[in-house]
Amino acid sequence: MKARTLGIIGLLLPALSLAQVPGQKPPADHYTLIQAGQLLAVPGQAPRERMTIVVKNDRISAIEPGFLDTLPGVPASARVEVVDLGDHFVLPGLIDSHVHLIGEPSFSRRRAERGDRNPPSAAEGAVSAMVHARRTLNAGFTTVRDVGSNDESVFAVRNAINAGRMIGPRILVSGPAISGTAGHADNLPFDRDGDAQARISHGICDGADACRGVVRFNYKLGADVIKMTPTAGFSDNTGTEPQMFEDEMQAVIGTAHMLGLKVAAHAYSPIAIKQAIKAGVDSIEHGFLLDDEGIRMMKAQDTFLVPTLSASYPPPVFRIPDPESVRLRNEYKAFERAHAAGVKIAFGTDAGTFSHGDNAKEFGYMVQFGMKPMEAIRSATVVAAELLGVGADAGTLETGKLADIVALRGNPLDDISTLKQVDFVMKSGKIAKRGGQMMEPFTYPATFLQ
Ligand SMILES: [Zn+2]
Repeated sequence: MKARTLGIIGLLLPALSLAQVPGQKPPADHYTLIQAGQLLAVPGQAPRERMTIVVKNDRISAIEPGFLDTLPGVPASARVEVVDLGDHFVLPGLIDSHVHLIGEPSFSRRRAERGDRNPPSAAEGAVSAMVHARRTLNAGFTTVRDVGSNDESVFAVRNAINAGRMIGPRILVSGPAISGTAGHADNLPFDRDGDAQARISHGICDGADACRGVVRFNYKLGADVIKMTPTAGFSDNTGTEPQMFEDEMQAVIGTAHMLGLKVAAHAYSPIAIKQAIKAGVDSIEHGFLLDDEGIRMMKAQDTFLVPTLSASYPPPVFRIPDPESVRLRNEYKAFERAHAAGVKIAFGTDAGTFSHGDNAKEFGYMVQFGMKPMEAIRSATVVAAELLGVGADAGTLETGKLADIVALRGNPLDDISTLKQVDFVMKSGKIAKRGGQMMEPFTYPATFLQ
């Protein structure tokens, strides 16, 4: 995780915990011994049978053959807990590179039915995001990248989760997606179009300098990543065509990279896709109209594709009889062609265009359209961790990494749909779900807050 998002508090906390309060003992170490019937520690390599993951506080301290139920040499004050997953398949916590935690189709349809075309308020968005974050963790996703919300809601939820005040996945937040006036991400009401500050806080920019300004504003908010929308989109029925100039994209990407942030581009039109790749974008989101030249450019520049196949098949709640997105997906087969060419594909769903917690349905599409189950799992762990820049902490189960661990009752290499039923979830060494049930209460027990 980037140190900057932890800010001053993150810098002070280690110093404070080292500075012992007189008369108060430091908290005892907490060990968890996870006995795994089958362990897929590094997706892409074969699973191993009968292994024990040793978790010390929030990180993996060892992985040992056989089932350990004691730890020789740990001080008597340490707490040692044994978790029996001897009949489970254990793998790294899953990563979704493309979610929108503030929204959900049933909710937006109800708003639309009462004639309300405005996005939810920041407060409504934060409450929704809390609920959706919990549901996402329940589904085994321990890290998500939220690409396109507003300047408040998901930042607040991310910070509350990081502070241990509520359960949820680790969230990388983009804040408002960036587009030109009337672009895909412009949800500013007409009567506020002349309000310069409102335009910046909604991610709206016309011209390179203004685009540098909105990137800097998102950075100031504490964004972990920048999202831009160089083309129109289906969700607002504007189509697939380009909406940003090349110099605007270059300004967004150049500024973000200077500030140490990656850029994700929502893009359909092959022209805009190639302009974004040329300008150095880190990932193309959706990319349904990706052409062969674009594929070659992605290979050459190591650009990731985040395919969001789930988003092309709108849920029945939208009541769209014959969606254009399905026609384009089936006609262009961008996912199949990119996969065959060896483009890096990072798992991402666009959850929020369908119900949060159903993220694992993307695995079914990936396998249906040609990935092997192991490749799909690798995409949601190793590859997504690389795109998000969290590979040192997440994506595999290895000594030194954060203990983000999920367990299933079936083997997903035989039947990918078993990933829809996650039985056990641990995030950063804390058990969030056990025996198919989320831990209560809603917040972590106070002992976790020390
Ligand atoms: Zn999206």
